[in-house]
Amino acid sequence: MKMDDYFARMKNVLGDNYDRFLETVDKPPYRAIRVNTLKIQPEELLPLLTFAGEQVPFAPDGYYVNADKLGKHPLHHAGAFYVQEPSAMSAVTALDVQPGDKVLDICAAPGGKSTQIASRLSGTGLLWANEVVRPRAHILLSNIERMGVKNAVVSNMTPDNLCGRLEGFFDRVLVDAPCSGEGMFRKDKEAIFEWSVEHSLACSERQRAILDSAAAAVKPGGYMVYSTCTFSEDENEGTVRHFLSQHPEFELVDTGCRFGVPTMDKALRIYPFNGGEGHFVAKFKKLRGKPYKGAMYTYIEPDADERRMIDEFITDILRNPSFRHIHVIDDRILDLPDTELLPDLDGMNILRAGVKLGDFKKNRIEPHHNLATSLTPYEFKRRLILSYEENLTARYISGEELEVDTWINGWGVAVVNGVTLGLGKAVNGHLKNKYPKGLRTLAWKDLQIEGL
Ligand code: SAM
Repeated sequence: MKMDDYFARMKNVLGDNYDRFLETVDKPPYRAIRVNTLKIQPEELLPLLTFAGEQVPFAPDGYYVNADKLGKHPLHHAGAFYVQEPSAMSAVTALDVQPGDKVLDICAAPGGKSTQIASRLSGTGLLWANEVVRPRAHILLSNIERMGVKNAVVSNMTPDNLCGRLEGFFDRVLVDAPCSGEGMFRKDKEAIFEWSVEHSLACSERQRAILDSAAAAVKPGGYMVYSTCTFSEDENEGTVRHFLSQHPEFELVDTGCRFGVPTMDKALRIYPFNGGEGHFVAKFKKLRGKPYKGAMYTYIEPDADERRMIDEFITDILRNPSFRHIHVIDDRILDLPDTELLPDLDGMNILRAGVKLGDFKKNRIEPHHNLATSLTPYEFKRRLILSYEENLTARYISGEELEVDTWINGWGVAVVNGVTLGLGKAVNGHLKNKYPKGLRTLAWKDLQIEGL
């Protein structure tokens, strides 16, 4: 019965395109990666990935792939690419992020769209990635860290609380809302059995509440993109219409994208016959409202003792170090995003602001994994270049201790294909493996990927 309901609704939504849709139902789902241009360019990465093919139509750095388990690939560990469903790349394309923008991604975990925004910002401006579900916020942080994003704040707050504090603050806001996921049915055949009319209606209620909160955070003249991965009219066009009826200070504007199937004149839908699993994207402009009037961040320099220890630590490990605003909170040493763009964070539930460089431990500093992921290999004084042939890459990722020249002593980075993977400490010919335990994988040798 449920399935009948679903297909009846699809027929209604798709009209003349229904037969094209039916032809795709039993075909395998699309897979894609997005190159992390913060770390590597497509022309450098693609020759290393034999499984990557055509460019996707939805974003400049996305490519179809014909392999799975890519999360275990060493270059995935190194943050060179993000595995992302191709049509999911469309929302950030519509958001049209400009250098220097302050951008909020309010439903951000696991981080596909946030890390895409970070690539577009290319180190400028501010990315604020928020996720309300705590364990998912930690996964988001781990992806922000892996992709080497330096100018981000990662928070774990309700949209209402966050946007109430940051009224009128952001140039662009993305609401990639939780939805009934009809665009994921080809990927996850079980999901179709969880679908129901009631669940879809409950999703649309939730989406309306999130959009209502998010609207406050957009500055006058700023933009908001609303996206879902469902085909439901209630959750897509219905939610957009409801939002516009409640928020006359917003108008629907063209997404600026020339792919998919147009809907409501200015919004778009993507179906499997367009080259992706399914997405809906609508873009709003805020015509009027209050700009942010709240306090900005008060930056406090480290004290003289902290500064001396930090300077020694940095010059021991790095060449020509350059950080924005080194800040100490309790025992943590952070390099903050541009503080002129940072609001007062007091009382907010922040998981990370900027890059975590290390922790004070009694009379020394222990570097943090984020130091390695945020910098290029050439910024480190000591580098261990890993190769596939000798299985060194696999051994490093699985946490093994490696042999190094006896004359090298101290902290350095392990490097794969010109991208940093993680830290190690060389002591008398041995590299103590500092790749975080939670990221280590033993099973990757089972991969049947050509070229590894
Ligand atoms: N943008 C993400 C990406 O590209 O990786 C995917 C976001 S997913 C579609 C929606 C997210 O909204 C989930 O992480 C979910 O935990 C979160 N969420 C669930 N309920 C929410 C609520 N009431 N308010 C805000 N976010 C919510």
